[in-house]
Amino acid sequence: MGRPVVSLSRCPDYDALSVKKAVERSLHELGGMERFVAPGEKVFLKLNLLRPSEPEKAVTTHPSVIRAVLQLIEEVGASVVVGDSPGGPFSKGRLEKCYRKSGVYEAIEGTGAELNWDTGYTRAPNPHGHLVHSFEIINAALEADKIISLPRLKTHVLTGFTGGVKIMYGVVPGLVKATYHAKLPDVKDFSDMLLDILTCTPPTLAIMDAVVGMEGQGPSAGRPKKVGAILTSSDSVAMDVVACSLVGLDPLTSTTTERAVARGLGTGRLEDVEVKGNALANFEDIRFEPAKRKKGNIFPVPAFLLDLYANRYTKPVVDRKKCTGCGECASACPRNCISMKNGKAVMDYKQCIRCFCCHELCPESAIRLR
Ligand code: SF4
Ligand code: SF4
Repeated sequence: MGRPVVSLSRCPDYDALSVKKAVERSLHELGGMERFVAPGEKVFLKLNLLRPSEPEKAVTTHPSVIRAVLQLIEEVGASVVVGDSPGGPFSKGRLEKCYRKSGVYEAIEGTGAELNWDTGYTRAPNPHGHLVHSFEIINAALEADKIISLPRLKTHVLTGFTGGVKIMYGVVPGLVKATYHAKLPDVKDFSDMLLDILTCTPPTLAIMDAVVGMEGQGPSAGRPKKVGAILTSSDSVAMDVVACSLVGLDPLTSTTTERAVARGLGTGRLEDVEVKGNALANFEDIRFEPAKRKKGNIFPVPAFLLDLYANRYTKPVVDRKKCTGCGECASACPRNCISMKNGKAVMDYKQCIRCFCCHELCPESAIRLR
């Protein structure tokens, strides 16, 4: 088998024309959109809509990238459904907030694309999974002929990096996602589960928004940082290797890549990927600050030792000045260990599994990891 191919294209900013040209150039290296999508097919465009967040905060896929990709799919003669299952409850109200705040309405304006409003899901078998042999998957993903994912390049406090592999977690509906944090508190098992989702619902193509990425405490509380690139590949693992290399991160600091290598899905080395289009050397020396992961979850510490260990590991801490008492962290917590006291969130660290969902989803960035 030859080396996996990742195409890299320079994209200086989010100007609509620049993005469309960059995506086109990048896809051209792989044979064009017509190599991946046929006329008459229905494509689910899987966004990264972690939570309602303005495009300039670099939490979600930028609307210019969404628009450019969906236009290219429509030019082939296929139809497009756009969506994601964000963190928190998978409800029409939550989808509406995400679409509105993250610029998705503007992204589809004047096109034939539809937004997904179906909050239903179905159990899908996953016979080739290593850890998980069936998943609840949102109907929008299951009913499509093809899935194209649009990850945004970001660091991640739990897995080190989020890109082509981790974005597929969003085909698992809302709060069902949280149950996997509770069932698989070890980050390596959790990353294996993410690879199982990739096996269950493989995207035909991944197109990464790396025009502006996020460094530091991603995926939502880090700092936006310019990279100036669009990446495309049919191999999400290889794409993450190139994306990490592009921003000065060791690809193996991503636990999803580390676990992918352990199961023979690549080597995690840049030299084993064929990079087409713009060479990495054509980009300036970009150095992303890694996420401070410290010691993550405290399991598999036996339950009777939790008291002893509860305060020794990194934990989510609420900044009471920033906390508005909105309750989003509590509704997403897989252990139901966040309560509201005097209008502020309070964690029960004896129950907390350090999944950091609360940190990801807090709209005020009021939860720090200490
Ligand atoms: S910590 Fe954040 S998510 Fe939780 S209640 Fe406060 S503002 Fe809302
Ligand atoms: S308090 Fe936060 S880190 Fe702890 S289990 Fe709940 S969501 Fe996860």
